[in-house]
Amino acid sequence: MRAGLFGGTFNPIHKGHLMVAEQVVERFFLDRLYIIPCREPPHKSPDYLAPATDRVRMVRLALPGDSRYRLSEVEIRRSGPSYTIDTVTHFAAAVVPGATLFLVMGMDAFLEIHTWKRWLELFERVQLVVVTRQLDGESDADADRSIMDGCIRARLPGEYTYDEKKSCWQNVHGACIHLLETLPVAVSSSQVRRRIKAGRPIANLVPPAVKAYIEEKELYR
Ligand code: ATP
Repeated sequence: MRAGLFGGTFNPIHKGHLMVAEQVVERFFLDRLYIIPCREPPHKSPDYLAPATDRVRMVRLALPGDSRYRLSEVEIRRSGPSYTIDTVTHFAAAVVPGATLFLVMGMDAFLEIHTWKRWLELFERVQLVVVTRQLDGESDADADRSIMDGCIRARLPGEYTYDEKKSCWQNVHGACIHLLETLPVAVSSSQVRRRIKAGRPIANLVPPAVKAYIEEKELYR
């Protein structure tokens, strides 16, 4: 069993998230990918955080109709800040015991990983999948692979070597970090929120069902 964990605020879920989800499932032959909205983001203070129930509903509406993609409410149900190490522990013990776990995150998230709770343990317990990211009009679509490699290398704890065959960095204990170069989808949740506030269209940024839900609930105005 190969299971992916893709956490985030999903405030709201957008087409960038979905592109990441689909490419990770295909590239790593995942049997399941859990999309895990957090209850309280420990490292972000968004201008506005929609209620957890709404963020969860929007993820549900956006999920591709394929049983490999699943919503997990584990972080929503857990009180307090949503620490990834607690989520990994939960999945390894109670949801998919014995599975190879892939923890998916954007490059922006990876660059801050050293500030996460018990972050070194994450490297031992999951394979990290770091996804390249293009932010709000900033053009890094042509970013040099070597810059990306440099960013990853700078954050690796200890001695890692690049394994060409597996295209990942590995250490002697078998820890593995993959860089997944995805098609750049220049969307962020903050951009979606800003556009809604400014009365601008979001049809290109979120799936139609999510757009309809946001309108019906008058979210992010
Ligand atoms: P915000 O703009 O509010 O900070 P966000 O768009 O970064 O939100 P999150 O829910 O915080 O969305 O992101 C969850 C994960 O998805 C993070 O690891 C983030 O790096 C990644 N991610 C989000 N958008 C993209 C994108 N367009 N391309 C690649 N990765 C992305």
